[in-house]
Amino acid sequence: MKIILTLQLCVFLLFTLHSQYDGNTSPSYPDLIKIYIDLAEKNTEIELYNMGQSDFGLPIYLCIINGAQDSIKSFDKARESTTLLINNAIHPGEPDGVNACLIWINDWILTGKKTKNLPVIGIIPAYNVGGMMNRSSSSRANQDGPEEYGFRGNTQNLDLNRDFIKMDSRNMFTFAKIYHGLDPDVFIDTHVSNGADYQYTLTYIASIRERMGPELGTLMHEDMIPYLKKRGEKGNFDMVPYVNLKGATPETGLTVFNDLPRYAMGYASLLNAISFTIETHMLKPFSQRVQSTLLFIEESINWMKINSGKIEIAREKTSEWERKMEYYPFQYKLQVKRDSILFKGYEFSNPISEVTGLTRLKYHQDKPYEKFIPLYKTYAAMDSLFIPDYYIVGGECSAVLKRLKSNNVEMSLLDNFDARIIGRYRINSFKSNKKPYEGHFLHSDIDVEISLIHRGFKKGDVLISSHQKNKRFIVSVLEPGTPDSYFTWNMFDSYVQQKEHFSSYVFEDKAKEILESNELLRADFEEKKKSDSEFAESAYAQLYFIYKRSKYYEPSHNYLPIHSGMYE
Ligand SMILES: [Zn+2]
Repeated sequence: MKIILTLQLCVFLLFTLHSQYDGNTSPSYPDLIKIYIDLAEKNTEIELYNMGQSDFGLPIYLCIINGAQDSIKSFDKARESTTLLINNAIHPGEPDGVNACLIWINDWILTGKKTKNLPVIGIIPAYNVGGMMNRSSSSRANQDGPEEYGFRGNTQNLDLNRDFIKMDSRNMFTFAKIYHGLDPDVFIDTHVSNGADYQYTLTYIASIRERMGPELGTLMHEDMIPYLKKRGEKGNFDMVPYVNLKGATPETGLTVFNDLPRYAMGYASLLNAISFTIETHMLKPFSQRVQSTLLFIEESINWMKINSGKIEIAREKTSEWERKMEYYPFQYKLQVKRDSILFKGYEFSNPISEVTGLTRLKYHQDKPYEKFIPLYKTYAAMDSLFIPDYYIVGGECSAVLKRLKSNNVEMSLLDNFDARIIGRYRINSFKSNKKPYEGHFLHSDIDVEISLIHRGFKKGDVLISSHQKNKRFIVSVLEPGTPDSYFTWNMFDSYVQQKEHFSSYVFEDKAKEILESNELLRADFEEKKKSDSEFAESAYAQLYFIYKRSKYYEPSHNYLPIHSGMYE
């Protein structure tokens, strides 16, 4: 009798814990952390760690399941065995993963039913703490639930899902500690999408295959994704690649998202993880979205349980591929090559809007269709660069060095005047955004020239070998011409600003002397006047032309404190 009662009580408790998270509410940050603290206190297999600060002043937590029940050994175990990391609420208005992870812990761990061969699982309960603390019921205008949720921006009003390279938030320094501490094999960032209407509850962005190592790319795109799709069809959570529209509606085709390293999944992909952003559909009810997120997580874990050996081999081979890489490809562009995909959408029409009197887009959920639509998924690198043996970065570049260190990049200090033949980086030209983007005026179209010079370095300058783990990360942030380099993110802007100048009226006489003493320069100058009418009409441009070629022009202008060298 007693046993039966206890069992009934257990089932009741599990039911209430489960049902607490599958309704139309999502916990606040303080409540969420209380739940995790309670779970960790009562269950030895659930560990919870305060991993460091957020921008808000409250800590970011990491829950580890199936660790070693030891604050150091659990991280060792994660790095050495198969590990999944789930990041929730980077956009706190999209808290589906917050609830899904709580339900998953209830269903899989508290019942103790499904723990055999479980990978190590890291869960960040909520990453954007500042956004979580800024709750309302209205910031997601198009979304169906939950009743209350957090805000997209963090306390600095940054979108943390653009912050993975530039690291403007304290959150990202904490994230880097979590990420490198675990070195996950599979990474899932949970979201809710905006955009078109269609039948699917869950869409996914997978790492671009062309950017991944061949073994890992094959394992993800030919094994894991087909497995998830098949399980999804059976489990009634059909999924489709993220609906990134080529035109106004899905009929014109979907384009695969370019997962640059600034995004969570692009960062994880650069660090050789199988990486997903999952996006549930805003118009589906919250509980349905949570259920789809939960199923995606469950089936990812099921796949990892079966394929742990394959995952470890593919990651080892990917590290080997990276070690042997001589050229770093970049500037990935979507190709015109067209595939197709069976898509479950809704018919649409363009009636006259009662608000604007103009045509509007209207989807008809009562008219579902299933048909093939174009899918553009092939990317190709438009550029590549030779990877040097090492870089030397000026010791004064503290912001850059701090970011490299927090990403576990090994470096050594030069301790005396060290002369060598080395490549010097000059920025010949670049464009900049006219409006700020995430607190920066991002650079693009960067023309970099590397010239060999013999020069010495000062004590405190830093040598960074490219022959170490995460080689592609090091190259992608230090090579100024790549789309998410530290140069692109404005960390070397002071070096592309001229510090001294000239006054035209004073320089006139000097310019005359310079031209008279340098025949070659005079010939170039006359030629330029003849061939360039704008130049011929600008006194300032002409004086600057002479100034720039004279000894008065500062020799350091446009040279970065980055050098690259080869071992002999
Ligand atoms: Zn999002």
